[in-house]
Amino acid sequence: MPPMNKKKQGKVCRDCHRVVEGENCVICGTTNLSDDWSGYLVIIDPENSDVAKRMNIKLPGRYALKVR
Ligand SMILES: [Zn+2]
Repeated sequence: MPPMNKKKQGKVCRDCHRVVEGENCVICGTTNLSDDWSGYLVIIDPENSDVAKRMNIKLPGRYALKVR
């Protein structure tokens, strides 16, 4: 396995807060991304997650708590 680069975790969609590895969001399809974000969040079960509901997250995955 290659070493993890902790400084660069990818970009985050400004619309749905999802952590994106490419150049556009897999959910929104938008290129409205930010690399200035904090608070790593893994949503496994959006139906039973208060955080997911508050952030309007419908799909499991990796998200950021705060995006600037
Ligand atoms: Zn998005």
